[in-house]
Amino acid sequence: MQYSPELLPEIIQSVGATIDANAQAVTVLDQVLGDGDHVLNLQRGIAALAQQANQLSQLSWSEAWQKMGMTLLTTMGGASGSLLGILFISMGKAAKDLELNQQGFAEAFSQGVVKVKQRGKSDLGEKTMLDVLIPVADKWLELAAVSNPQADTMIVLDGTASAGVESTRKMLATKGRASYFGERSCGHLDAGAKTSQLMIAAIISVLSPT
Ligand code: ADP
Ligand code: MG
Repeated sequence: MQYSPELLPEIIQSVGATIDANAQAVTVLDQVLGDGDHVLNLQRGIAALAQQANQLSQLSWSEAWQKMGMTLLTTMGGASGSLLGILFISMGKAAKDLELNQQGFAEAFSQGVVKVKQRGKSDLGEKTMLDVLIPVADKWLELAAVSNPQADTMIVLDGTASAGVESTRKMLATKGRASYFGERSCGHLDAGAKTSQLMIAAIISVLSPT
């Protein structure tokens, strides 16, 4: 099965709803280990995407992801704004040369995550959104390579994202504002990892409704 960009309005709506529903809890996380603005940054970006949703649905995935990335980059602010912006712009560029079947999606997402690592100068285990994005990208590539049934893949990726965010709890933050807290950063989830997991779960709920 191939997914169409016509799903984007529903995906954006679903992502916005889950971020709104969890706004208070995630804001507490970013207040403990940051400056408390992460959810507001994200909500600003999602609101801008919602305004473009119908337009986005008429584009190719490559064009839509690049446009979404530019929108996030210019509206969100914060470290997460530039990182999510880069993620989508890079996915869009990668998608130009890919057939967007399950393997192509996994490949585009992976290439986007590599660019986030480069931009953030960060990697797995540093208590950031990458502790969700990297395991999901790796697992998706692995499952797509063996033609795992799509619905099963989505269930596994949902679990991978949840395990990723939970893994940040015991980590020492070495990147972003949370790194200023040193040892005190241990014992809390990372806000950006949590919103990444929530967004992935919301996207999966649209792509693979149960
Ligand atoms: P800011 O930290 O500038 O206030 P946000 O609050 O919007 O930006 O986003 C904070 C989140 O961004 C963190 O929870 C973390 O997941 C992510 N983040 C911050 N710096 C980096 C980095 N260098 N690499 C990857 N992710 C990062
Ligand atoms: Mg912040």
